Order: sequence, then C-alpha cells, then structure tokens
Amino acid sequence: MRAFAESAREMGCEVERQYPMSRYTSLRVGGEAELVVTPGSVGELCRLLDILSGSDIPWVVLGAGSNTVVYDGGIKGVVISTTKLRNIEIREDATVHAETGAILGAILNKTIKAGLTGFEFAAGIPGTVGGGVFMNAGANGGEIKDALTRVWAWSGGREIEIKREDIKFEYRKSHLPPGCVITRAEFGLGPGDKAAIEKNVKEYMEKRSRTQPIRMSNTGSIFKNPPEMAAGRLIEELGLKGYGIGGARFSELHANFIINAGGATASDVLSLIETAKKEAREKRGITLETEVRIIGKK
Ligand SMILES: Cc1cc2nc3c(=O)[nH]c(=O)nc-3n(C[C@H](O)[C@H](O)[C@H](O)COP(=O)(O)OP(=O)(O)OC[C@H]3O[C@@H](n4cnc5c(N)ncnc54)[C@H](O)[C@@H]3O)c2cc1C
Repeated sequence: MRAFAESAREMGCEVERQYPMSRYTSLRVGGEAELVVTPGSVGELCRLLDILSGSDIPWVVLGAGSNTVVYDGGIKGVVISTTKLRNIEIREDATVHAETGAILGAILNKTIKAGLTGFEFAAGIPGTVGGGVFMNAGANGGEIKDALTRVWAWSGGREIEIKREDIKFEYRKSHLPPGCVITRAEFGLGPGDKAAIEKNVKEYMEKRSRTQPIRMSNTGSIFKNPPEMAAGRLIEELGLKGYGIGGARFSELHANFIINAGGATASDVLSLIETAKKEAREKRGITLETEVRIIGKK
C-alpha cells in the first residue's frame, strides 16, 4: 500500500490517507478510507488501475459519491476519485465529449448555452458521467442511456471503446464488462429551442425543490421503485415517513429519501433501510431493493 501511494504521488496524483468518507459522500456518513487517490488526467487514472490490477490491494472507483453509502468501518484499500477529470467538449456535430468525472449538471448548462437538446434528463442529478452511466441515472422522463452514443473504459489494462448499442441498460443499472472503469463518454444531442429548454429545466428544478429534501444531506432515492408501486408511497403507507433512528430519518417531504438530520452514522441509515425492507415484506409482501450502493466494512 505504501509503495502504491508513493507511485501515485510521483505520478502527480493527490493522495490522502485515512480520509473520512463522511466528507466525500453526499449523505455525510461513513468511516475512513485507507487511501483516497485523485488522478489529474485520464492517463493517470489508467496507470493507477494498471498498477492496482496487478496487486492484491482492494480498490473502488467513485465519482461524486452521491449514490454511495459507506459503512462506519470505512474502506480497506483505495478509493480512486474521478472528481478532477471534468473536461467537457461540445463539437460541431452536436456531440458532447466528457471525461468521467464531469458533473452532469455542468454538461447540461453547457448544452443549454449551445442550444442543444437531449440532456435535460440530468437536471438536478448531482452525479458524474461515470456514476451516471454505471447507474443509468435518469429523471424528468429520460435516462442517460437515451443520450449516450459511446463510452470509453479501462478494461483489463487498456482503454476500450464500447458503443451504446452494445451495452444493456435497465432501470438504474448498466451491464458493462465486469471490472471496467468508465474513462470518457460521448453523447449525441440535437438542436433545440434554447428558451423552451431553459423553461423546462427551470420547471424540473422547481418541482424538485418542492418535492425533495434538497437542502438536507441525502443520497437521492434510497430504494428502486418496486413493480407494485412507488417506493416513496409504500414507505409512507407503512407509516415510516418522518421515522428516524439516531441522526437519520425518512424525509417528511419525500419518504424515499433518507436525510442526515445531524450526526447520523451509516449504521443509523442501514437500520432504517432494514426496517423499511422488513415491513414492506411482512406487511405488504413487497421486496424493496436499494438503489443506493453500499460499500466498505461493517
Ligand atoms: C439530491 C440528489 C438527487 C438525486 N436525484 C437522482 C435522480 O433524479 N435520478 C437518478 O438516477 N439519481 C439521482 N441521484 C443519485 C445519484 O446522483 C446518481 O445515481 C448519480 O448518477 C451517481 O453519480 P456519482 O458520480 O455520484 O456516483 P458515485 O456515488 O460516486 O458512484 C455510484 C456507483 O458508480 C460507480 N462508478 C462511479 N464512477 C465510475 C466509473 N468511472 N466507472 C465505473 N463505475 C463508476 C461506483 O463504483 C458506484 O458503484 C440523486 C442523488 C442526490 C444526492
């Protein structure tokens, strides 16, 4: 681990030891990661992955950490953060080329300025390109898969190109080659009416601030919507809206959001998740599956 940290530093990456993941993730819970390494270029990212894949050090890649809960025991091994890989380029053929750590909202703003339509699904989603493609993030009637044309990914020691039609996407899930790390993506957009796009995006954002606890630390929807009904409505019908454990509780505004009301631990959050799962199963026969990714040591 020490040799890896040294190589990463020599490469020019930012290296932080024993980094509290409560500072990294949007829900603001979780223990320390042994090492957080932030490469400054896609080349550095690939070189780090080359080294890690030839070692026995456990590693995970994170973008903005807006769909991730880290256990209180923290993360053994390395977190590779893509947050500095933010380059976004809009080309004349109306394609957008973005590095994996580019924030979806930053891409949306650029496409609006350029009068392009097709990225409005991303309004209010605080994640990155890599996390967005991995999760097939979506809102406002669209998903990232609808705009995506190709991705590039580190896979088994080289950067490969994967066409959109060769990736199977499902609701909040992508089927990329196992172990691959998205490095860049291309989106195909079209010319649009700038005023109409701005109006739609404003409406999406206003609706979000009315219906979601955007001013509190949270991690978006906790559960995927089961086939039977919306997860938020189910949690509400189970009487859990506003129910809290420790510093965490189901939001009063939208029951499928868990908020950190101050001083929450991952254990509080996980106890809430387990409570909702158990009650949904026992009282309604419905299986709830988390949308949020839970990683680390218990
Ligand atoms: C206030 C709020 C509102 C939200 N609203 C929505 C919404 O409307 N719709 C929606 O879909 N989501 C929503 N989310 C959830 C979240 O923003 C999305 O899932 C987003 O796409 C996650 O991106 P991220 O960069 O934060 O991913 P992270 O949390 O950093 O990572 C998520 C997963 O992706 C993997 N990953 C990250 N980068 C890469 C990479 N380069 N290569 C391979 N795998 C990678 C990680 O290992 C992890 O398993 C919301 C979250 C918040 C906090």
